[in-house]
Amino acid sequence: AKSQGANRYLFFNDSMNKLAVKRLQLENLIRHGLKEDYFAVYYQPKMDIVSGQLVGMEALVRFITPKGGIVSPASFIPVAEETGQIIEIGEVVLRKACLAVKGWIDQGLFQGRVAVNLSSRQFSLPYLCELIDDTLQQAELPSYHLELEITEGTVMQSPPQAIETMKKLRARGIHLAMDDFGTGYSSLAYLKQFPLNTLKIDKAFIDDMNTARGRNMVDTIMTIAHNLSLSVVAEGVEQEEQLAMLRKLRCDVIQGYYYSKPLSDSEFTQFLQEQKAR
Ligand code: C2E
Ligand code: CA
Ligand code: CA
Ligand code: CA
Repeated sequence: AKSQGANRYLFFNDSMNKLAVKRLQLENLIRHGLKEDYFAVYYQPKMDIVSGQLVGMEALVRFITPKGGIVSPASFIPVAEETGQIIEIGEVVLRKACLAVKGWIDQGLFQGRVAVNLSSRQFSLPYLCELIDDTLQQAELPSYHLELEITEGTVMQSPPQAIETMKKLRARGIHLAMDDFGTGYSSLAYLKQFPLNTLKIDKAFIDDMNTARGRNMVDTIMTIAHNLSLSVVAEGVEQEEQLAMLRKLRCDVIQGYYYSKPLSDSEFTQFLQEQKAR
């Protein structure tokens, strides 16, 4: 028993401890970042596939280090989800996105919707609707300028409850998109019941479009979505050929590096000015 204990201790030292230390460091960094306002929001354009016009943008969080480095969410969102810090980060993103869009609308540069990602934890907050109402009111932004992106995994945790929350949001004129569609476990029976406006096809499927099987998959998703009267956004579109195929499949909206990578507040202002000048 004694040697087993020693082994366990060794194991803990070698891998788990390192991981735990790293997580703790990240948790502290996030706390510090929230206090010092290191979280910024970047915006990626969403373009109408037919007209090529801007229809909206997705708000994507970034951690800006004091030296000006940009940390992508992939490295801190999982920890923030675990610690619950994602709730506070999400509030910051929602507030900043609403204020930015209000500014662009007032400058006559924009009329569409900003899409904000909601984590599972945020989505299940009992005060979610109040939080959104307050944030919109403080930014003086009408609710129809807001869209929320919710993943399959989030709504499938408790579909009946999710439907209720979604109905409350829809009653406010807020649009709802199902994000990363096809990556999780989803049920067609439920898809029909969720009060969605939009379905976002995950980048993984777009990447697969260079094979016949991959194209068929996207075609199938597109057909299901359109049968349910949902608009379809393809994310992660990088190449002209992907765009051409998606156009043939009657995809509605394109988001990806083909048009633009996510842009900072000031870069996006410039993007809007260039769009207007076209
Ligand atoms: P997502 O919601 O699926 O967002 C799309 C991701 O794909 C973004 O990564 C975007 O920069 C990237 N992307 C878009 N077009 C292309 C392309 O053409 N090529 C490639 N290679 N990538 C492309 P990002 O910004 O690193 O965000 C990663 C994930 O982090 C997001 O995936 C989302 O799940 C999460 N996330 C980002 N911001 C927030 C937030 O404010 N709240 C929450 N809860 N999650 C967020
Ligand atoms: Ca998203
Ligand atoms: Ca997505
Ligand atoms: Ca994705």
